[in-house]
Amino acid sequence: MPSKCKERERILASGVVDVPALPVGAVRGILCFRCFEPSEKILKCGACRRAGYCSKECQRLDWSAIHKKQCKTLQRINEIDVEDYQDSRTWDDYRRFLLRYVHLVQEMTPERDTIFIIQAQPYCSTCYRSANQLASLRLALNVCTQCQLLHHCDSCPDSHTESVCAAYQTQNKIEKFRHELFEDTGKASAITCTADPHTSHKPLTNCTGWYDYFVKISDKRQIKGKITPDFSGISDSVTRGNTSQQEFEEQRRMFLLLATDTLTMPLTIVSALEELHLLKAPRLRVHLLGATGREFLAMPAFEEILHLVPGIKSLEITAVGPSSLLHGHGPEGYAPKQNIPCCDACQSKGRTRPLASYQGLYHDFAKSSHYEKPDIIVAFNSGCVDGDDADTDWDQTIRLIVDSEVPTLFTTYNPREAWHEQVKMKSLGAKFVLEPARNKWSSLVPMPEFLDEEYDIWYQNHHQYIIQGKQK
Ligand SMILES: [Zn+2]
Ligand SMILES: [Zn+2]
Ligand SMILES: [Zn+2]
Ligand SMILES: [Zn+2]
Ligand SMILES: [Zn+2]
Repeated sequence: MPSKCKERERILASGVVDVPALPVGAVRGILCFRCFEPSEKILKCGACRRAGYCSKECQRLDWSAIHKKQCKTLQRINEIDVEDYQDSRTWDDYRRFLLRYVHLVQEMTPERDTIFIIQAQPYCSTCYRSANQLASLRLALNVCTQCQLLHHCDSCPDSHTESVCAAYQTQNKIEKFRHELFEDTGKASAITCTADPHTSHKPLTNCTGWYDYFVKISDKRQIKGKITPDFSGISDSVTRGNTSQQEFEEQRRMFLLLATDTLTMPLTIVSALEELHLLKAPRLRVHLLGATGREFLAMPAFEEILHLVPGIKSLEITAVGPSSLLHGHGPEGYAPKQNIPCCDACQSKGRTRPLASYQGLYHDFAKSSHYEKPDIIVAFNSGCVDGDDADTDWDQTIRLIVDSEVPTLFTTYNPREAWHEQVKMKSLGAKFVLEPARNKWSSLVPMPEFLDEEYDIWYQNHHQYIIQGKQK
């Protein structure tokens, strides 16, 4: 029986941040909102009919811990959603309504999951009527038996393609694995660095991708021939073997798949260091921009930079962003360097990993006395052009970066964002050291996105580019 998922609200309150978020499967009606377990018969909250539970007990306990803060807002959105009813609408109509509801929820409640419950709500992917609207007409919404995440109503045929279905099946598997990992280890993310630091640099450029990296660069040679090189499954030879071996390899595949979600950060940085010929600096100063929970959760995985690049003695990271999470921020929002413990092998060589943090915007940090010019600036999935805070916060920061002439690595969740950012950077006269391109070291963990394009799936660090100074 799961216990940690059920307790995640208490665990979060105790200061632990590596806790699984409300899964899409719960919002789409196949998992319990409290324990995240699947159930044949999900009991819906009678008032909002959006939260669902495996049992009366889960419902009662979730009400007092979380749902009482959500239910009224969800009921209000339901009323508006019924007023907005149309017999049929396009995807664009649907997402326009959804965006409006998201803004309304933002005004009504600060509770973090409520927006997600609205964004990821079940709907008919043919006529785009929401589950809530269909329920008010007493029409049923049927779930796809394969992916269990996409729906069509009684009056419409199922319209999602096999490849979309496959992506959503993967999504389900990964969520399930994450919950199991959390139950077993108390951690919702996977960290696995190369055990022994390399004594000479093996270039990532020579690798075709994750499988190659795990087998040739890192120390996971044992997966060779067991997992398919595209990480989509276990290999045929394993499938022909006994079930316990199959399960073992499948678990190992899922763990490494999840680990790409944290390793994507250090590996994307190392490949940029290769591109910029920055492998020899004994003291590497990195400014990590727009750092949020994700970067802090992945911080142990940044040890991989030391393990892949033998020349670096001291890896100094300063995380800068309005939601920078490090403790010990002084009155100016600056938390001075603290040494993150390195592994024994690195410690014995006197290597260090100081981490500092500034809670605020980068162009403000650059004016402060704590600013030291870095060797590289890194902004993962910044949304610096397409995001909500693009005009207000990022514009000034980008101008500063271009003027500072420090090489800066940007990544985006998808190619569209990368193209938009390219236009913006070019308009400011930025010089591209690396034009926007698909990143070999992007995460393999899919993140369904609900407000952009239908069935859109984003990946961390999907695209990358590097700018430095101005075009002459
Ligand atoms: Zn439950
Ligand atoms: Zn409710
Ligand atoms: Zn329909
Ligand atoms: Zn499906
Ligand atoms: Zn180490």
